[in-house]
Amino acid sequence: MDERARKYVIVGNGFAGTTCAEQLRKADPACSIALFTDEPYPLYNRIALPPMLRKQVTEAKVIMRDAAWHEKLAIDLHLSTRIDRIDAAERVAYAGGRGFPYDALLVATGGRPNPSPSPGAEGAHNVYNFQYMDDTKAISEQLEQSKVAVAVGGSFIAYELAEAFASRGVETHWVLRGPRFLRRMLDEIAGEMVDDAARDEGVHVHYGEEVERLERSNGVVTKVVTTGGLEIPCDCLGIGLGLTINTEVLDGTGVEVRTGIVCDDRLETNVKGIFAGGDAAEFYDPTAEMHYRMGTWNNAGAHGKVAAINMAGGDQRYHDVPEYSSQLFSAQTITQFGISPEYREGLEMVRKIDREKGHYRALFFWQNRLAGVLMIGKGNRAGKRKYVEAIKSKVAFAPSEWESLLGWTAG
Ligand SMILES: Cc1cc2nc3c(=O)[nH]c(=O)nc-3n(C[C@H](O)[C@H](O)[C@H](O)COP(=O)(O)OP(=O)(O)OC[C@H]3O[C@@H](n4cnc5c(N)ncnc54)[C@H](O)[C@@H]3O)c2cc1C
Repeated sequence: MDERARKYVIVGNGFAGTTCAEQLRKADPACSIALFTDEPYPLYNRIALPPMLRKQVTEAKVIMRDAAWHEKLAIDLHLSTRIDRIDAAERVAYAGGRGFPYDALLVATGGRPNPSPSPGAEGAHNVYNFQYMDDTKAISEQLEQSKVAVAVGGSFIAYELAEAFASRGVETHWVLRGPRFLRRMLDEIAGEMVDDAARDEGVHVHYGEEVERLERSNGVVTKVVTTGGLEIPCDCLGIGLGLTINTEVLDGTGVEVRTGIVCDDRLETNVKGIFAGGDAAEFYDPTAEMHYRMGTWNNAGAHGKVAAINMAGGDQRYHDVPEYSSQLFSAQTITQFGISPEYREGLEMVRKIDREKGHYRALFFWQNRLAGVLMIGKGNRAGKRKYVEAIKSKVAFAPSEWESLLGWTAG
């Protein structure tokens, strides 16, 4: 490494990008760090947007960093500034016509939500995605004057919208194409348990239905018409139909892109000096022994840290077990460790269900190793740690032992 101060550029100031900036400052006190976001906010807690929409937390609590924090760490934060091109040969990132040279660059651009493809949606004033702070503010305002709201999609985001609508006292309809919520991750029984939780909250769930068209009046959607013939009056329409990963900034760089930006377990891409992290990265997980994308908060932070160490000339491998936990309406919780059938085909499963207690446990095995865990209902912390350690250690369990692992968390 040469003696001059190194220059780092980070595209995206979500949890991956901002964690990377913080870690870079620790690893390299003399370096310069330029952190870019096309949003007008410093880091905010994206996973706190649902509680903000439910009016359980304020905007001030959701914002995690302020200008003073960036100044103290000498992180040059560029708000509302989109990086539109990277010259990988010259190692310069461009925002408009202005160039920012780098020695190493992180792309942590996340994804943008897919818009509603339904006829009548385009340009309507009361149709929303749910990804950004500004979406949350706009939906919240609309709910103040809404009697009926409709959430569309089988993803976590559609669920979060349905839950928020119901918690705001609005008549809520949830329209899903599939036979259950998260159909590739949950089996039938787990799906029924989520359904129970939704109905207990007063949500009208419509499975096997797609939006055929939206009726409008004066630029707003007034009715959702489904392929099965339902006609639902609507004052607020929320769309949770997945993300398109923001990779365009890498066009022309030669960086490989598949479901996301392909990188190794050091988070470096095939182009030296360019790293990827968080939702945007299709990374190599040495525990699962495969590449995949994982859109979770903890994973974004873990990527930010590992990428920073390697950008600063270190040699650290990603070695985390992805973990996701979310409330499922007011009375339930869903937790996932490692991978599930959504990520890898051919996993073998054992499960234990207690409908009365609202407990569901599924353990997924791959080549006799514990690969992932899915839990509905709370479990004890020690048991959850044991699952994570078992996944990480890659220890083999004979099939005759699998059932006994179900007892590691109570219930
Ligand atoms: C409503 C909601 C609820 C969620 N709930 C949970 C949960 O309960 N648990 C959990 O683990 N995860 C949850 N997630 C997922 C989690 O928030 C994400 O996995 C995580 O925030 C991803 O962080 P990131 O840094 O990779 O990307 P992001 O947070 O998406 O940040 C990327 C940033 O880069 C900006 N950007 C993109 N392109 C450019 C460019 N060219 N130039 C400049 N800036 C650019 C984007 O606008 C954005 O600000 C939730 C997500 C949402 C939306």
